[in-house]
Amino acid sequence: MKIEEDVALGRYTTFGSGGPARGFARARSEEDVTAALAWASERDLPVLPLGFGSNLLVADVGVEALALRLEGELASVTIEGEKIIAGGGAADALCARQAQEAGLSGLEFAASIPGTVGGGVCMNAGAWGSDFGAVLERALVVGRERSRWLDRGELGLRYRGSNLRPGQIVVKAEFQLERSRTEEIQRGVRAKKEQRKSSQPSGLRTFGSVFKNPAHEFGAGRMIDACSLKGEQIGGARISLQHANFIENCGGATTADALALIGLARRRVHEQFGVMLEPEVRLVGKISLPPFEADGQSG
Ligand SMILES: Cc1cc2nc3c(=O)[nH]c(=O)nc-3n(C[C@H](O)[C@H](O)[C@H](O)COP(=O)(O)OP(=O)(O)OC[C@H]3O[C@@H](n4cnc5c(N)ncnc54)[C@H](O)[C@@H]3O)c2cc1C
Repeated sequence: MKIEEDVALGRYTTFGSGGPARGFARARSEEDVTAALAWASERDLPVLPLGFGSNLLVADVGVEALALRLEGELASVTIEGEKIIAGGGAADALCARQAQEAGLSGLEFAASIPGTVGGGVCMNAGAWGSDFGAVLERALVVGRERSRWLDRGELGLRYRGSNLRPGQIVVKAEFQLERSRTEEIQRGVRAKKEQRKSSQPSGLRTFGSVFKNPAHEFGAGRMIDACSLKGEQIGGARISLQHANFIENCGGATTADALALIGLARRRVHEQFGVMLEPEVRLVGKISLPPFEADGQSG
């Protein structure tokens, strides 16, 4: 397996910003993953498992890490009875399509999440009242010491999070689905796709929801909208006019531009609602949210 150095990560994220990773590897087997972890360990570098980068903001200066993509066998999907077994690098949409074709229901929500299985487990990705936690049985996780199947309890899937630690790579996952009629599944997928198209920006570079929804009667998008921030632009980044919990790259946006907007939205929502929004997007490299005086207090 070839390990490239100083590979710009912008083209590996859906938002399109971010500097280079010190190392970049494409693993096609569990052995490749182990070899990549050893390479990183020898250089005292952390490993950054990279899916489709659909939930990432990478530092403009880059990241001192080995970025690891899973491909080939580690991105394949097979069906065994009512189970779907997918590589950590498999696209969510591929899993949803294979399930649909096999007359298996449960992964309809994943059809329009533009990520991979590994990223989905890590984030417990979900939509329309369902998520990975509802259908995932177990995941094969490779770490520096060994690889092990972790069950749902050990994975600790919760709202947009899990117990996975940095350096733990999901190479395979098993989903338990239910038999249903293909046409019915297809109808469900189509309805969800249409609903999404009418409520969220499509065909634009974003990183999905910026913030998690807080425990509040309003969602994060509604709060940001109420602060009149729709359409607010800093550099090449803009708060979507369609859904205020999305930031679009309207051309040449940097991670610093997006972070400045995130900071602005957090501050204004805190002033207006007393709520401290927590980012859903993962920050990679030496970057953090712009601080303001209320930081550290509860929200
Ligand atoms: C247009 C758009 C719509 C979206 N809609 C939704 C939605 O409806 N619901 C939702 O939940 N999310 C949504 N997202 C966000 C994103 O798609 C999900 O969080 C997705 O699960 C991220 O998957 P990924 O493979 O792109 O992961 P990445 O963004 O590449 O990584 C996300 C995190 O997962 C880790 N990771 C990636 N692969 C692995 C692996 N193999 N093993 C261990 N850790 C790994 C990364 O290190 C990182 O911490 C949306 C994003 C966009 C751009």
